Amino acid sequence: MLTLPVFAWSRPKTVDEAMRVLAASPGECLIVAGGTDAVPNLKHRLHEPKRLVHLGGIEELRGIRVTDAGLEVGALVTLTELAAHPYVREHYAGVADAAEHVASPQIRNMGTVGGNLCLDTRCTYYNQTFFWREALGFCLKKDGTRCHVVPQGKRCVAAHSSDVAPVWIALGAQVEIATPGADGASGAVTRRLLPVEAFFVGDGVHNNVLVPGELVTRVLVPASSLGVRTAYRKLRPRAAIDFPMLSVAVAARGDASRIEALRVVVSALGAKPRTLGGLDAIAVGKPHDAALAEAVGAVAFKQCHPLSNVPYDTDWRHDMVPVFVKRAAPGALGVDA
Ligand SMILES: Cc1cc2nc3c(=O)[nH]c(=O)nc-3n(C[C@H](O)[C@H](O)[C@H](O)COP(=O)(O)OP(=O)(O)OC[C@H]3O[C@@H](n4cnc5c(N)ncnc54)[C@H](O)[C@@H]3O)c2cc1C
Ligand code: SF4
Repeated sequence: MLTLPVFAWSRPKTVDEAMRVLAASPGECLIVAGGTDAVPNLKHRLHEPKRLVHLGGIEELRGIRVTDAGLEVGALVTLTELAAHPYVREHYAGVADAAEHVASPQIRNMGTVGGNLCLDTRCTYYNQTFFWREALGFCLKKDGTRCHVVPQGKRCVAAHSSDVAPVWIALGAQVEIATPGADGASGAVTRRLLPVEAFFVGDGVHNNVLVPGELVTRVLVPASSLGVRTAYRKLRPRAAIDFPMLSVAVAARGDASRIEALRVVVSALGAKPRTLGGLDAIAVGKPHDAALAEAVGAVAFKQCHPLSNVPYDTDWRHDMVPVFVKRAAPGALGVDA
C-alpha cells in the first residue's frame, strides 16, 4: 500500500490568506485543489512538500460567470460543473467536451479547472513508485540527472496531459494569476493576466510560468471569441479514465463553405501544447473539403513529433496526428465528421 508522507496542512479562506501562507514557506508548499493528481503524486513521492495549501475554502475561486467581458471560470470550478454549464455547452462546446473526456465521473466531480490547467506533466519513467524510480536511477524531473526518453537531452520532455488546456489555447483564453507583493508575506497581492498559451513552457520539470507563491485564480474567455466554434478529439486506450496519448483542439470561424479563421492545437506529445503554424495561408477563405483536410493533416504530421514519454508506440501516435486533426476539424466548422 502506498502511504502519504507527513506534511502540515492549511485551508485558507481567501486568496490573500493563501498567498500569506505560501509566502511564509517559499518553495516548500504544494497547492491542492481537488487533489486528484496531487494526492497520487504525493503517494509516489513525486512531490515532497512541507505543507499542503488546500484551496477548497476560498469561495472567491468558485463559480462560472458571464459578463460583458466574456466567460469567467473560477479555478475551483469542477470539471463536472464546467461540462454541464448551459452557456459553456452552447457557446464553447469543445471546452465542455474536453472536460467530459477527463478520467471518470468521480474524478471530474473532484477535479478542478485550476488543477487541470496546472496538471503535472506525465512520463513512463516518472509516474511510478519511489522504489521503481530508484531502481532506474531516477531522472531529470525528480531526483536524477538524466532523461530516459532523450538520453542526451538537457530538458525534460514529459507529456502535457491536460484535456481542457488545448481548447483554452485554441479559443485564445487567458489565465489570471495571483502574485505576491514585492515583500512577500506582507506585500499586497496583485493579479496578472496572460494568454493560456503563454502559461506553458517547454520544460516538463515544471511546465508553466508559475513561481512559488503564485496561484491560478480564474480562466477568462474573451467575449470576442463568441462565434468561434470549438471541437476536441482525444486518443486514449480506453474510453474512460485514461490520460490522452494525443489530443487535438480546433477552433474555427466561418463554416464548411468558407473558413474565416482556423486554429489547431495538438497536445500530449511534449511538455507543452503545440499550436500549428501556417494554417491561415492554407485554410482562410477556402471551403472545408477533402483536399483542405489532407493539407491541414499534413501540416500537423510535419510539425508534431511524439516521443516515447508515454507507453504507446511513437510511430503509431505520429500516424494518428493527421487522423485526429481531420476528425476534429469538421466539428469546429459545424459539419458532421
Ligand atoms: C486515474 C486518473 C485519470 C486521470 N485522467 C485525466 C485525463 O484523462 N485528463 C486530464 O486532463 N486529467 C486527468 N487526470 C488528472 C486530474 O484528475 C485532472 O486534470 C483534474 O482536473 C486535476 O484537478 P485537481 O483539482 O484535482 O488538481 P490537484 O490534484 O489538486 O492539483 C494538480 C496540480 O495543480 C496544482 N494546482 C491546483 N490548483 C491550482 C491553482 N489554483 N493554482 C496553482 N496551482 C494549482 C497543484 O499544486 C498540483 O500540482 C486524471 C487523474 C487520475 C487520478
Ligand atoms: S521525459 Fe525524461 S526527464 Fe522527463 S520525466 Fe521522462 S525520463 Fe524523466
